[in-house]
Amino acid sequence: MSQATLITRAYDSPQTESRGYCRSCKTTHRLGSRKAIEHCLTLIEQLETQNTINLFGAAPDDQLKTKYLLGPARGKMFGVMHCMQPDGATLLLRAFSGQYNGRWEVRGWVPPLFDIDDFSRINYGVEKQIKTITIEIEQSLPHSDKWLLLREKRRKLSQELMRDIHSLYRLTNFRGETTTLYQSYTGPHGIPTGTGDCCAPKLLNHAAKNNLTPLALAEFYWGRKNRSASRQHGSFYSSCKEKCGPILGFMLCGLDHHDNKYTAT
Ligand SMILES: [Zn+2]
Ligand SMILES: [Zn+2]
Repeated sequence: MSQATLITRAYDSPQTESRGYCRSCKTTHRLGSRKAIEHCLTLIEQLETQNTINLFGAAPDDQLKTKYLLGPARGKMFGVMHCMQPDGATLLLRAFSGQYNGRWEVRGWVPPLFDIDDFSRINYGVEKQIKTITIEIEQSLPHSDKWLLLREKRRKLSQELMRDIHSLYRLTNFRGETTTLYQSYTGPHGIPTGTGDCCAPKLLNHAAKNNLTPLALAEFYWGRKNRSASRQHGSFYSSCKEKCGPILGFMLCGLDHHDNKYTAT
């Protein structure tokens, strides 16, 4: 038995599936990882031998080297989805979580859940304002009236910016429904920063919008381990509880009838 087969068997478990509670069906929707893990192993090999995520014909670009993941910025989650086109042929989709070294879009990787121009427009002016205020804070006497006022101003601006950014996200599911982060979110608290930027939502959204049927999805971490050491180089993980759990119920909705057919293969 090949190593890939062994790993695939070991990891085809709840520990590597994508899941979320769906309010309209009142059940947890799940997507297994098995077929996708084999393809993740191929991707890991490509990252290791080519030292770049520029694997699918983007213009040469030093920003895309994997060196970035081994330094202070630390590693990142990557995801692969094995899916089926309407004609029955299978296809692979690949994603990196969040931005890669400042890039939302890289050729051969699925895009984020929002329009990048809208994001840049909203982000640019406010980020500049926040930077200016930060300099003013550093230059004023700690705990003085001015200092407190500036800190409060910065906090409000960041909150507003996050709300405006979150309002740009559009989530499409396999019933053909499209909604916002706010409407799909089932968590008890506010929406955490970075919700919708993980690999699973990017891959599911791209598949749903392009009439592709997901058969399997797997996510692994690659690069220097994160601060809490909860993410280790080359390890597979299920969709995250905090950010993805509350939106994947909506995003996976409409897929269930495919589950039984494919998990056995
Ligand atoms: Zn996540
Ligand atoms: Zn549902």
